[in-house]
Amino acid sequence: MRLVFIIAAIYLAAIAPVRSQSLDIFKKTTTEVAPGVYSYGSFSARSLFVVTTDGVITTDPVSAKNAADMREAIAEVTDQPVKYVVYSHQHWDHVLGGQVFKDEGATFISHEKCIPHFILHPNDDLVMPDQTIAGDHDLTVGDKTLKLMYFGHNHGDCMLVMQVDGTRVLYINDLVTPYSVGLGFMPDYDPGEWVRTLHELEAMDGWMQFIGGHGIPIAPKDAMVQRRRYMEALMAAVLDGIESGKRLEELYGTIELAEEFKEMRGYDTHIRRSAERIYHYYTMGW
Ligand SMILES: [Zn+2]
Ligand SMILES: [Zn+2]
Repeated sequence: MRLVFIIAAIYLAAIAPVRSQSLDIFKKTTTEVAPGVYSYGSFSARSLFVVTTDGVITTDPVSAKNAADMREAIAEVTDQPVKYVVYSHQHWDHVLGGQVFKDEGATFISHEKCIPHFILHPNDDLVMPDQTIAGDHDLTVGDKTLKLMYFGHNHGDCMLVMQVDGTRVLYINDLVTPYSVGLGFMPDYDPGEWVRTLHELEAMDGWMQFIGGHGIPIAPKDAMVQRRRYMEALMAAVLDGIESGKRLEELYGTIELAEEFKEMRGYDTHIRRSAERIYHYYTMGW
């Protein structure tokens, strides 16, 4: 018994530093990125909340547990009620669990193109939007305006990019996870339109940093440029393979990008599935 205990103690001591390091990015944190503008969450998911003189605007609740934790984090910086919840896009890893905000009277907003997804793929943990927008929209509450910007089809077809007017920070959710390749295979991605969107965002003046839907609290614009260049390199490599007559299995098994992209988080796990997704994009038309 004692031996088991000692072995267990040695084992726990050995893995403890590793575990605490690897758990760090999953620890939820609140970071003020501009006056009254907060990045909240962890690698699992990240939201924006904005404290105004007349209530709080928040984005994605993520899950019931995350929404409860975020409500506590909001209460730590203000007594104001949550007046609005804005969904960034339709994916369940961002939009579920908003009931705690509904219960305090918040109005839920999304792009109108999210609604067919919510109807086609219902979820008991989803609060349906009270209002929808069809394009760019300014949401003004108290002393702040949250600009909701729509760039068309990219990561799905209802993504809203956000910016609190007067700040140099964007909230772009899953369009870029900083220094990461992101999930490789999702049928609702449109890779070409996604790259176009990133080019349009890069060309947009008035911002220097962004908050992604996963990962570190805030990242420099360069991290968006890296992701756009990665996507272009992947698409070029797959197109080269198709044009040189490689079949999917061969292309899928041999895909390799430049060293600079191999350092991005998730490269080893996702590069093959990403290549498969792009192969279908070029050969199936979707
Ligand atoms: Zn998503
Ligand atoms: Zn996501």
